[in-house]
Amino acid sequence: MDQVAFRQLWRRFAELVHANKTALNELDAAIGDADHGSNMDRGLGKVVEALDAGPEGSLRADAKLVGMTLMSTVGGASGALWGSGMLKFSIALPDATVVEWSGFIDALDTFVEALSKRGQAVVGDKTMMDVLLPAMTELRASAEAQESGEEIVVALAEHAKGWSDATRELMARRGRAAYLGERSIGHVDPGSVSTALWFQALADTVRAQVP
Ligand SMILES: [Mg+2]
Repeated sequence: MDQVAFRQLWRRFAELVHANKTALNELDAAIGDADHGSNMDRGLGKVVEALDAGPEGSLRADAKLVGMTLMSTVGGASGALWGSGMLKFSIALPDATVVEWSGFIDALDTFVEALSKRGQAVVGDKTMMDVLLPAMTELRASAEAQESGEEIVVALAEHAKGWSDATRELMARRGRAAYLGERSIGHVDPGSVSTALWFQALADTVRAQVP
């Protein structure tokens, strides 16, 4: 993954969230406070602006910029989680313009671990971790099997959508939706949907890179 692709990944994520803004707000309206789409859309718009204006320093600098921007512009738990997680992610990236696929996966692992510690959510709690934790397991396994980055992320984007859809049947145990208890069952978790969109953005980016 190089710096051009990394910036493209965030541009694509911003596009996908923008296109799904209303749907994400509606999901959040059912079990939260109806702002997840608007929050993420506003924050990612700022991320794209910041990256476009940012100097071509390094992946680490770009990821730090993404993290700082998300922390300061996205409200609610999502902003704190995505923002602080991206700051951890940035530290795990090299101070260079290119990272090996294995190094990118290691950095993602750091991101997921940071979120796991901060949010204390596990699989089945009806949060973004219902996508992130199995995604990490799958990324690790496919990297060990030495599959190509493209094969991995295209399959992963589809699985991420499935894991997100599956949160519909779960009862929320973390975050605002947990107050609803059983009434949270029957609604997809919006944080899991936006997280699945990130994996879609990753797949679209990697696929566009391969000639
Ligand atoms: Mg909300």
